[in-house]
Amino acid sequence: MTETPATVRPTTIDVYNPADGTLAGQVINESPARVVAAVQQLRHAQTSWEAAGPRERIKWLMALQDWILDNARHISDVLQSETGKSRADASVEVPLIADALRYWTTHAERFLRDDHPRSRSPLGIAKKLTVTYRPHPVVGIITPWNAPFVMAAQDAIPALAAGASVLVKPSEVTPLSAVEFARGWREIGAPPVVALATGDGVTGAAVVDNVDFIQFTGSTRTGRAIAQRCTHRLIPYSLELGGKDPALVFADADLDRAANGIAWGGMVNAGQVCISVEGVYVETPVYDEFVAKLTQRVADITQGQDTTAFRYDIGALATSGQRDIVQRHVDDAVADGATIRTGGKPTGVGTFFAPTVLTDVEQSMSCITEETFGPTLPVIKVADEAEAIRLANDSRYGLSASVWTGDRRRGERVARQLNVGAVNINDALANPFIWDLPMGGWKESGVGARSGGAYGIRKYCRPQAITAPRIRPARSELLWYPTSRLKSTLVEVVMRATAARGRRRFGL
Ligand code: NAD
Repeated sequence: MTETPATVRPTTIDVYNPADGTLAGQVINESPARVVAAVQQLRHAQTSWEAAGPRERIKWLMALQDWILDNARHISDVLQSETGKSRADASVEVPLIADALRYWTTHAERFLRDDHPRSRSPLGIAKKLTVTYRPHPVVGIITPWNAPFVMAAQDAIPALAAGASVLVKPSEVTPLSAVEFARGWREIGAPPVVALATGDGVTGAAVVDNVDFIQFTGSTRTGRAIAQRCTHRLIPYSLELGGKDPALVFADADLDRAANGIAWGGMVNAGQVCISVEGVYVETPVYDEFVAKLTQRVADITQGQDTTAFRYDIGALATSGQRDIVQRHVDDAVADGATIRTGGKPTGVGTFFAPTVLTDVEQSMSCITEETFGPTLPVIKVADEAEAIRLANDSRYGLSASVWTGDRRRGERVARQLNVGAVNINDALANPFIWDLPMGGWKESGVGARSGGAYGIRKYCRPQAITAPRIRPARSELLWYPTSRLKSTLVEVVMRATAARGRRRFGL
């Protein structure tokens, strides 16, 4: 009998530019043993990082901001080389992270300050009460391929500010930008509380198996597997997953702004944004006019491979597999009666897919029921507001949505009926980089959230309660031994008197 050879895991991963197939770089496919060693070192270094306090940590994060801004062009080059993005899409990542660094360094000290709640309970009234925020020692950050610099940095920054060490596991498709992030941390001479674990899903699983908190961004399928593993290990996690964001266009909307905003919201980064607009619901009276405007805007979008020239609006898709998903959704829709208004096919070499508008779309088509993560905008005609809300909510995802209307009050009323983590009125993709706001998915789009002011940094902490006597304590307490009827009765009387309402306060 011949034995089947065990699959040998490659020790390195080649990274290709999907726009032209050229080799962009190579990284190590880290073994689980190397992940264990990295976590051990991070755990060791974290103790003094936490003890240093927020002010000292902020100093290093500001130095990192300087390094990132000084190296902005190079970082954009690297991330363009591994993603095939247009320069316009590539160049937004550095400024977003510079802004994140400003936000967290400005507010970290305040967000991490101890709380001293006042208690009216007889158990707490004589105590000094403190809630202090102590970091999870090692935070694992696992990221997808669509915005490789932002994804690595945006969650690492508040975790570091909180006093945690971070182990970043970037996507095997686009790991090179995260290599730059880790290089920046090293080059400023900061304490060794940032490490990188490049590699595939096996490396990712080893990260989940060793760290103390998981911040995951990626597909719902992987997120579910990670949640199961975290549950088994009893470690907390935050999951930012897939989306299928609807745009609701009402008859009173400024149709030019809606068409411009939705074209951008659906096509930016070639549609590879978790909060891309992926379905458009338009009220009947303005349907034809809106579709004409949207089709024109999308047809005007330029697409191609530029380097530093800012020649194109959008670039390639990150993988050929991603292009195939887009093609399948378009083909399925056309087979079931949808009409391609513009685009609808791959273009040129590499993984480009033409910006596409589909009409005569049904809610049951795969282009509406599944995440596409590509440059397609399926449009559905709706009778009224109620139908738009019903169809927008008819999804397993719940990341974000946009509402386009001339009446802001109507927009806010509709927003409160949508089952998603964020709603932008007369705008698309507006919320995620406003760090004061939580960005989290509902339903199968996630668990927890990133950012959101104090929440965004405290999520990396374990709240610790400390009680201390306000006055010099007696030798014993009422509840301590020995027990007696008198003491128990007294406790009950006091607790009743403070806790209950009306006559029950007096045991009547
Ligand atoms: P993916 O789930 O395939 O991979 C994400 C990361 O998980 C990669 O680093 C991968 O190596 C790692 N991984 C794979 N198997 C693992 C395992 N068993 N244990 C641990 N890690 C493992 O996602 P992708 O295809 O890289 O990214 C696209 C997806 O990301 C889309 O669904 C998109 O919507 C989502 N996304 C969500 C947000 C958000 O904030 N909600 C942002 C960007 C992208």
